[in-house]
Amino acid sequence: MSLDTKGQRARMLRLLAVVEHYERNSAAGAQLMRGTRYELAVQATDVNGDRCLFPACNCTQADCSRRPPAGPQLSWSGPRGGWKMR
Ligand SMILES: [Zn+2]
Repeated sequence: MSLDTKGQRARMLRLLAVVEHYERNSAAGAQLMRGTRYELAVQATDVNGDRCLFPACNCTQADCSRRPPAGPQLSWSGPRGGWKMR
């Protein structure tokens, strides 16, 4: 793993923390952060490949061990999969 990949993963985690902060603390946060989540998902698939579920899974690793919790939610399944209701 290159240092640059590690740096990219670290940046994605920091950005996700910001996104989640706004989603929790602002009434319009989920709406405002939707585009940022989309960009995070695109960036994660660039770094980790199309199977990466970040930001839904929180792990930023290519071998995704943490699955998002079960239940109905919007999930990102990569640029070709798009958003899906699960
Ligand atoms: Zn993951």
